[in-house]
Amino acid sequence: MKKTVSVFKFGGASLKDPAAIKNVANILRSYEKEKLVIIVSAMGKTTNALEKVVEAHAARNGKAFDILNEIKAQHYRIMDELFDKKDEAYALVNDAFVEIEWVLEEEPHENYDYMYDQIVCVGELASSKIVHAYLNLAGLPSQWLDARDVIQTDDIFREGWVQWEETMERAERIVKPMLEQPGFIITQGFIGSTSENFTTTLGREGSDYTAAIFSFCLDAQDMTIWKDVPGVLTADPRLFENVAKLDRLSYKEAIEMTYYGAKVIHPKTIKPLQNKSIPLYVKSFVNPEGEGTLISSEVDDTYPPMVAVEPNQVLLQISTRDFSFVAEHHISYLFNIIAEFRLQVNMMQNSAISFSLCINDVDDKADRFAQRISDKFKVMLDRGLELITVRHYQEDLLNNLRRGKIVLLEERIKDTTVQMVVKDVPQIRRRQNVAAN
Ligand code: ASP
Ligand code: MG
Repeated sequence: MKKTVSVFKFGGASLKDPAAIKNVANILRSYEKEKLVIIVSAMGKTTNALEKVVEAHAARNGKAFDILNEIKAQHYRIMDELFDKKDEAYALVNDAFVEIEWVLEEEPHENYDYMYDQIVCVGELASSKIVHAYLNLAGLPSQWLDARDVIQTDDIFREGWVQWEETMERAERIVKPMLEQPGFIITQGFIGSTSENFTTTLGREGSDYTAAIFSFCLDAQDMTIWKDVPGVLTADPRLFENVAKLDRLSYKEAIEMTYYGAKVIHPKTIKPLQNKSIPLYVKSFVNPEGEGTLISSEVDDTYPPMVAVEPNQVLLQISTRDFSFVAEHHISYLFNIIAEFRLQVNMMQNSAISFSLCINDVDDKADRFAQRISDKFKVMLDRGLELITVRHYQEDLLNNLRRGKIVLLEERIKDTTVQMVVKDVPQIRRRQNVAAN
């Protein structure tokens, strides 16, 4: 099969203000002659703000409309610098927000996650409409596509799982003919829909995954994620010194890194690409000429130490109420409920009478889970923790990382990975050296 489409993904930071959007258009201008499917996230921190709308609506505290209005105003401020006042983009963006206002005029839905998806999707809908309109204005014709017409998920809201057969069929039927038309295709990351056409989301930071789904379904020749960093780095430069860019990475290493919490790419992104050997580039929208990082199959396997720090962790210490051993039947019972809650378990350990789980502390999920198992188990929650993962570790680096921390859980996985759940000894975090010395 002839592979001709490329898929680009632009995240929130690349669309955070008028200058950023103009920069995206400039980057795209050098790809004018290519077939591109462009996936965009919500602008800047819009999704975080929309989460506040959902919270306020659920709490019936009367603030939902105010927060939404501020989000809307922020979009209009950006548009005022990009468009003439009479541009039809205003009506399009307004329509997207009106749908949310309708949701807010109703009583909060009893299913929080369902309500969440119906509200937060507006971030991506609005940003894609703005980018679409701006590209057309800048002489880069594009077609707007509703990603929900293509990506079908199950009906687990906020964490929708892709229904691949339906999605592939819809990509073939809907997107392929659009690719015959001139111009780019602009669509949204993060969102999909159920078979009954309710909006779902793929989990926070899910736009990378959307790009991979499109790449897979369209047999893309490559995919590029445009970020505010030069490529995949060995650690977060805001936390560490001597951070280096990796020029190349294997799919396997990328899967492991992201699985263990390296934030560069959403963990589900690599698998669909690997299945079809689609190369993934991570490049800088600040320096688009830069080489970035290439993630593909053929790479030799020596890597420098890499560190990922995941904040907002909660450790659940689960013990049986009757001091009986935590045995197989308990574990299987617990895992069924973990699956039902779609908890992302980052680390676990069991001893004779207790079982520890480290998970991302996302709203009240940990409490709801604890509540749910409380008839059989006692649960202690320790919040505000960090999960530190080191790949290709060296002992002196580990020692540096442990400094000033209380280590609550530590584990070595094969000889490549160390994970620890830590708590700060109250003092200021020093910037540490990640490079080998
Ligand atoms: N806008 C969504 C989020 O902030 C999806 C994404 O950016 O990937 O989580
Ligand atoms: Mg993002």
